[in-house]
Amino acid sequence: MENSMSKIQSNSIFQVDEHGYYGQFGGAYIPEMLHPNIEELQQNYLDIIYDESFQTEFLSLLKDYVGRPTPLYFANRLSTHFKTQIYLKREDLCHTGAHKVNNTIGQILLAKRLGKTRIIAETGAGQHGVATATVCALMNLPCVVYMGEVDIERQAPNVKRMQMLGAEVRPAKSGSRTLKDATNEAMRDWIANPVDTHYIIGSVVGPHPFPDMVARFQSVISKEIKIQLKEKTGNENPNYVVACVGGGSNAAGAFYHYLAEQNVQLIAVEAAGHGVNSGKSAATSQLGRVGVLHSSKTLFMQTEDGQVVEPHSISAGLDYPGIGPLHAHLFDTKRATFLSATDEEALQAVLLLARLEGIIPALESAHAIAALDKLKAKENEIVVLNLSGRGDKDLDTYIRELKL
Ligand SMILES: *Cc1c(COP(=O)(O)O)cnc(C)c1O
Repeated sequence: MENSMSKIQSNSIFQVDEHGYYGQFGGAYIPEMLHPNIEELQQNYLDIIYDESFQTEFLSLLKDYVGRPTPLYFANRLSTHFKTQIYLKREDLCHTGAHKVNNTIGQILLAKRLGKTRIIAETGAGQHGVATATVCALMNLPCVVYMGEVDIERQAPNVKRMQMLGAEVRPAKSGSRTLKDATNEAMRDWIANPVDTHYIIGSVVGPHPFPDMVARFQSVISKEIKIQLKEKTGNENPNYVVACVGGGSNAAGAFYHYLAEQNVQLIAVEAAGHGVNSGKSAATSQLGRVGVLHSSKTLFMQTEDGQVVEPHSISAGLDYPGIGPLHAHLFDTKRATFLSATDEEALQAVLLLARLEGIIPALESAHAIAALDKLKAKENEIVVLNLSGRGDKDLDTYIRELKL
């Protein structure tokens, strides 16, 4: 797949540097006790993931287990509606229903090569927990998923899925009993079990090398888009690539091979919740300030004295108080344009896609659809939209909010 030259790609200012930074963002702000784990990863991850036997196993699982390549679908009626040319990258068709499994497969193969025998993860809504429990079942490794007590109550079906797959779901009972508390518990577990355990982080967040590693695993998305778009249009570059951003992993994957292509506009769509300035929002690039979140220097929503502000979005996957360091850098340098969509706009976009194309998207992905209105793309321009997941998991919300 990639040769040793593209391992580094230091020709691009949007690649991580040797110290783990994207511009001023990134790094590894970790407690002393985590140094051995993080250093082991930093020193080995590129050699391991670009090893031929790793690539063979990774690509074979992506093909036969996940169902890749996912289609690039020309959405005819959606295109007519928005008066432009729209292609959907169908990550919703991945096994387990979203792009997250691309990363968990990559990380579990890495863990095995590091000799790890136990996997831990954190999860908010449970989507990353399910994707992690799935690959642990596949590889016969014990799996502990930390989840806030409040989230365990809110997301009962995903808790049951993880348990069916053989994972243990451990409640985080401190603080607000949500994602950031689950993350703290997972970190504590890793410090206590540095030798046998790998911590699978679910997005392009956390200490270096996680943001870069996760982006590389997800980069299969834009690798496929280039090939598929060239086949369909004769040109591998669209005018726009659009993706929703929670922590930023599906967007990082969709943007990755376009980062250095300055004529391709990268559009990141955040969740505005009730409205960017409503006090109930997750539009973290607009509202955030620089600080350290989840062991990484990035933009996140915080109080005057640096406490994390609880975000709000109707979509669990976008309900995160920060963005990964790559996205903070893309925002800072204006390489990407950041738009947002409200809860209500996303819900309407769900119905729009269902009625126009017969595809029921995840609420997260619907934010990207909703932003098409604000893009003002011209009639002959080409827009690739990363449809990160399918809507099955959101059916209860759709029944309630759309009064079905
Ligand atoms: C988790 C999730 C997201 C948000 O996570 P990113 O890391 O920003 O991609 C988006 N879409 C779906 C379907 C998800 O499950």
